[in-house]
Amino acid sequence: MDRRSFLKTSALGSAAIAAGTLMPTSCSSGKGGVKDTSKVKLNISFQEGIAPGESLAEKLDFMEKLGVTGFEPGGRGLSGRVAEIREALSGRNIKVSAICAGFDGFILADDAAIKESFDTSMREIVAAAGELGSTGVIMVPAFNGQEPCKPHTLQTRDYLCEELHKLGEFAKEHGTTVILEPLNRRECFYMRLVADAAAICRDADSEGVKAMGDFWHMQEETSDYGAFMSAGSQYLQHVHIASRGRRIMPGEDGEKDNYVEGFRALKELGYDKFVSFECGCEGDHETAVKNAVKLLREQWALA
Ligand code: MG
Repeated sequence: MDRRSFLKTSALGSAAIAAGTLMPTSCSSGKGGVKDTSKVKLNISFQEGIAPGESLAEKLDFMEKLGVTGFEPGGRGLSGRVAEIREALSGRNIKVSAICAGFDGFILADDAAIKESFDTSMREIVAAAGELGSTGVIMVPAFNGQEPCKPHTLQTRDYLCEELHKLGEFAKEHGTTVILEPLNRRECFYMRLVADAAAICRDADSEGVKAMGDFWHMQEETSDYGAFMSAGSQYLQHVHIASRGRRIMPGEDGEKDNYVEGFRALKELGYDKFVSFECGCEGDHETAVKNAVKLLREQWALA
């Protein structure tokens, strides 16, 4: 683009903004759009292994007493568990938050049979997630070590966006989404910032393709606040949380476990999805979980 055409499009852009045509459709859909953040609630969710208890019912009883309103099961075998999970949640103030992976193969597989097994198993999980009213199914396009993987080229990124578009549209038909989880350079070198995942969502161009942030992996971010803001309410669909030193219960790593800046972004975004525990535990299980929930509520109030 030469300078003349740049100035021309810039001028057009300014005119459109002045006319209001590029403005967000509601104040909560824009970045930093909520003025009164005191009304934005912290919705806590647990993965299946977090609450103490032998059975699912015991775990849900414990969660209910703590005011935990989200439950994140794994995706493996989910279609066979729809009735069990529905029944377990019936009459409780707990919803399925998101579904954590559980598919076979991977979307960037360079082997047709592995890609096919991804397509089949992922769509089965997505359909079950829709039946359970989940916000989405969490996925990583390819971990660093997964082979054979398509080469890291621009063509592969385009292919990823095309495949995600199809998957996202399928998820949308089922009333749910697929959620890209950025990790860190050791696990997934090409998608390690929340903004990386959000940009793929934008380019996949489907309302069924969303992004998330995991406070554990977000150690690569320069700013927790900036990370969540980069996804904005348009793309941010889920959050994982753990302690920030050893990936155990929030609070078990002491001073390191500060989530206030990230929470401030969530509040300003009017984030109404879940913050879900994905972590181990070092101390007494029941005590550590209760302390962690208390800590998050204190920090949410501070944010
Ligand atoms: Mg995670």
